[in-house]
Amino acid sequence: MQKSNIPNKILKWYDNNKRTLPWRKKTSTKNREYFTLVSEFMLQQTQVKTVIPYFENFIKNFPDLKSLAKSSDQKILKNWEGLGYYSRARNLKKTAIKLIEEFKGQLPKDIEKLKSLPGIGEYTSRSILAIAHNEPYIPMDGNVERILKRVFLLKTNNEISKENLNKKKSFFGFSKRSSDYAQAIMEIGALICKPSIPLCNHCPLTKNCKAFNRKDFLIKSKNKFNKIKYFEANVYRYKNKYLLIKNKKFNFLKNLVIFPMTEITQKTFKYSVHKKINVKMSNMNMKIIINRKNKMKRKKDSLFLDKSNINKYILPSFTKKIFNSLSH
Ligand code: SF4
Repeated sequence: MQKSNIPNKILKWYDNNKRTLPWRKKTSTKNREYFTLVSEFMLQQTQVKTVIPYFENFIKNFPDLKSLAKSSDQKILKNWEGLGYYSRARNLKKTAIKLIEEFKGQLPKDIEKLKSLPGIGEYTSRSILAIAHNEPYIPMDGNVERILKRVFLLKTNNEISKENLNKKKSFFGFSKRSSDYAQAIMEIGALICKPSIPLCNHCPLTKNCKAFNRKDFLIKSKNKFNKIKYFEANVYRYKNKYLLIKNKKFNFLKNLVIFPMTEITQKTFKYSVHKKINVKMSNMNMKIIINRKNKMKRKKDSLFLDKSNINKYILPSFTKKIFNSLSH
């Protein structure tokens, strides 16, 4: 496999085909760091097209680290509403405060220091180093993994293990344009080497790709299986308002407002006569019975919300789904 000109081929493709994304706008160093930080937090577990309007709105309301660090949690969450994974928004604010207090408002260039910041792990630290600091890192996201799986036709569990994929990453080599190079590889994965039907006619890697040679594009992924969990949501209405609580109990949607709920067994769910709904979360499928109550005690951290006003509140989409399932 001829590898020496891989970076040139990929960067040439990128220069002619890259998307215009709001966080890629040519800006000052400070803005480049801030834009990278915000976009990388938003892009964790979320697709580019979903992130774009949220990013633009967020930057309008919090144009720099200072404005973000000073803002109330309430305002930040309101701007994050609908994007999900709300802990990212809280961590982003904590990171902004820490950067101002301990790093003179700059993103550190040391990977360990970056990883010490809230919400920044292995992948995000590498993305920041490559994209904001032009350091020679290639962050491994699903897009990069898919290209490697096809280029080397990796199928077995051993072949597609993280360890082996990290070894195979040397295929890409490095470029002095590290920032563009990392984004270019991810962009080819997102736009060309698509999961079901890759657009090989537009790909600069056809001569290096085993999948293309053998016309075998089937991707082997590790068995990802969303757990099914069963819940009973207790719905109590009083004078057009519904009782909600701040979630201290479950590890998902922590501290956000939910209907009082308990986890139940599959059997209880199956035999319940109450209305049932399904909610797909990114890491589990929730099956919920809606149990209308005539009486309920108001506890600490509870509040009454009017259904017609739910858009004014910061509610996880999951709580809104339950609201929407209620006819009165
Ligand atoms: S040639 Fe086709 S399968 Fe191979 S990396 Fe390019 S788009 Fe993917």
